[in-house]
Amino acid sequence: SKKFVLAKHFAGKPSSDDIKLVTEELPDEVNDGEVLCEAVWLTVDPYMRIYTASLSEGDVIIGEQVARVIASKNPKFPEGTHVIARLGWKSHALVKDVSVLRKVPDIEDLSLSLTLGSLGMPGLTAYFGFLEKCQPKSGETVLVNAAAGAVGSIVGQIAKIKGCKVVAFAGTEEKCSWLKNELGFDQVFNYKNIDLDKVLSSSVPDGIDCYFDNVGGDFSSVVLNHMNSYGRVCVCGCISEYNVPAEKALKGPYPFKRILIKELSVFGFIVWKYFDRADEGRKQLLEWIKSGKLIYKETITEGFENMPKAFLGLFEGSNIGKAIVKA
Ligand code: NDP
Repeated sequence: SKKFVLAKHFAGKPSSDDIKLVTEELPDEVNDGEVLCEAVWLTVDPYMRIYTASLSEGDVIIGEQVARVIASKNPKFPEGTHVIARLGWKSHALVKDVSVLRKVPDIEDLSLSLTLGSLGMPGLTAYFGFLEKCQPKSGETVLVNAAAGAVGSIVGQIAKIKGCKVVAFAGTEEKCSWLKNELGFDQVFNYKNIDLDKVLSSSVPDGIDCYFDNVGGDFSSVVLNHMNSYGRVCVCGCISEYNVPAEKALKGPYPFKRILIKELSVFGFIVWKYFDRADEGRKQLLEWIKSGKLIYKETITEGFENMPKAFLGLFEGSNIGKAIVKA
């Protein structure tokens, strides 16, 4: 069996040298109550960049996976059962306490990988973050960044379902053309080629009502200056700041005067807080996928050994839709 451990703490952008592959023997036997899991699909997510700070060097890197039970002495999880669990970056795991395992939810004939993406944590982030925090109304203008990613691509599509106009930003021409031509977003820009302030002044003169922020940093300071009265901001992520060392972290400036004058509501959002409503969110997302209203995409990296490559890719913009690893 294989696992990835933190070789050394990330300094700035994570590098493949910071993550080490370790091989171990599979346990000889499974005792009463235990199950042996084998990873099938693994997820890489931007939050892992932040959370690894709380790990010690040598610890297994955290993360969720869909696994298959390959040996079982627990009647609740017979051999062949598919489970979701936060087992870390491990190809195999002997689970002694099965309370950490959840059976995969019923998603009909769709790929189980979606339970880590559009029908999992990122999908629920988009669903609850956007609907609860931004409170979109039909006819309003919604701005979303990292818009071709796991969360952003769903936020933009939910906004369209709710009758909003979507202004989206992503980092490559390929992503922009997917957003415009396949997802039908109204205005799409490659943020790498533009002066954001000028683009918003000239192309979005009526301003923004809802801002779903995945990126943070200077981008957000500019967007806030284009928000309309009573606008709502969901601060979901700030990936542009994750690799910046603490001593160089952005401390401002933020346009507080605009927040005051326009009476904006700016909300931090943490998806875990909504997990007791996961079934509700997943049901709606599944219904939209089944009816063709919600399109999903996955960038699948083949091979457990390539976990670091898939993870590092998040900070290079390598993924369109959800970044997933097939073990
Ligand atoms: P994505 O699938 O969007 O992947 C990350 C993308 O971010 C990349 O593909 C890249 O796209 C973009 N990106 C990377 N670096 C930068 C940068 N410096 N500036 C601008 N864009 C950058 O990831 P997720 O959808 O999983 O996550 C999106 C955001 O949501 C993250 O900030 C994440 O931390 C946050 N999040 C928050 C949760 C919460 O509970 N609050 C839960 C889940 C996610 P591009 O080519 O466009 O640059």
